[in-house]
Formats: sequence, C-alpha cells, structure tokens
Amino acid sequence: MRRKLAAGNWKMNGTAAALEELAEIANGPEPAACDVLICPPSTLLSRAAEAIQGKPVSIGGQDCHAEATGAHTGDISATMLADAGATHVILGHSERRQDHDEHDDAIRAKARAAFDSDLIAVICVGESLAERESSNTLDIIGGQLSGSVPDSATGHNLVIAYEPIWAIGTGKVPTTDQIGEVHDFIRTRLERRFGAGVGRSVRILYGGSVKASNAEEIFAVSNVDGALVGGASLKASDFLPIIAAL
Ligand code: PGA
Repeated sequence: MRRKLAAGNWKMNGTAAALEELAEIANGPEPAACDVLICPPSTLLSRAAEAIQGKPVSIGGQDCHAEATGAHTGDISATMLADAGATHVILGHSERRQDHDEHDDAIRAKARAAFDSDLIAVICVGESLAERESSNTLDIIGGQLSGSVPDSATGHNLVIAYEPIWAIGTGKVPTTDQIGEVHDFIRTRLERRFGAGVGRSVRILYGGSVKASNAEEIFAVSNVDGALVGGASLKASDFLPIIAAL
C-alpha cells in the first residue's frame, strides 16, 4: 500500500512569521493515512526543520544544483538541503522549467544529486494548455518522465507530481477523468521502466489549484496518492482540511 502524501510548496512566499503557520500544521491532528511535507523557501529551511522536530511533518527544498559544492553563485546543493534538515526536494517544477529554462536532462542530474544526499525527489511533470488542446498531453508527460527520472529511482527516493501548467494558481482543475488518465499513464510507464515492484510503490501526486473544496474528489481518483499544493498550503486553516481529506 502506498502511503498518501500531502505536500505544500510555499514557492517564494514566507518570512519568519510563516513559521507560525508551520507550527499550526505540525500541531494539527495527526493524520493516520498520510505523510505531510512542507517545502518552504530555503531561507526558512533550518528554522522550519527545528520547528517540526518530533512532529509528523517533513521539510523539503524547492530545487537543488546538480553538483555538491562549487562556484555557482546563488545556487544550493542537495548536500546543503540535507544539512539544513530537508528530507525531500521538489525538482522540475514548471516555474523552474519556465523561469530558469530547466530541461529534462538538468532535472535528471539534479535528481541524481538528490539521491546521493539521501533526499526524496518530487519530480514534477505537466503539460501546457496548448499541449493539452492539441492532444499531446500523454506524449509530453511520457517524454518528461523518461527524460527527467534517473535510472536509479526507487519507490523510496522518488515521488512524481503531475501538475498541468494551466491548472497551477488559476483555479482551473482538470476533470477527474483527465487526472485519472494521466495518473494511470504515469503508473504504467513507471511499471514498464522499473518493474512492477518499484513502479507500483512510487507515489504520484496531483498538483494545480487543489483546495479543501475539491481535495476529496481528486483524492478518490485511481493512482492519485496525494497532492502538491501551492497557494492553499500557505495557511494552516487552508492546508489542514486538505490533509484531513486524504
Ligand atoms: P497551486 O500550485 O496549488 O497554487 O495551484 C501548485 C504548485 O505549483 O505546486
């Protein structure tokens, strides 16, 4: 059985005051059926890791460099994330792919670095609206999966997040049929590439405008093992009901 995962992606949001929201999330009712992950901005990582000590919440980064150290001003390595208390890292988010021109081969190299630092990589895939409208969704997702997931992935170090770009921060959500089609496709691809054991144990999250009011319906879709939540993870009062829906 795959344990469900409720992951919050705070993006470029949050100063010290946001740690109060984290504390509220960490002190919420202990979810029986799911893991909880919060990925704050890197400036808050150490303090966030301290704040959740002994609580059933994990902390993750939002990106890492492919190398462990070196002359890369402004970048953060997987080693540094782990040192700051992170256990996970989001990789290949569409905002990174767009804003920083990240491509699958770079994401694959970052994922290898994450694995080397014993971090769980949450690798994001997703199509644009134009790609969906031209019926290219599964081709795009298939290409991103084979390009950005390293061969060394396992059921323990890899999580996939399916995030249609047109659903992120827009309030638009695919139909449950559309979500199910992509999640089933991802599952089949993982099983084909890594074998049934690994393929069936990787968790596949849905992301894009998840909120308390649609969470239950989305979580009921086959092969949806949780959510990667942006806006609705910033406030405990929004995120706790999503955790409860899992
Ligand atoms: P959203 O973002 O929940 O605000 O749509 C999701 C994400 O980008 O991970």
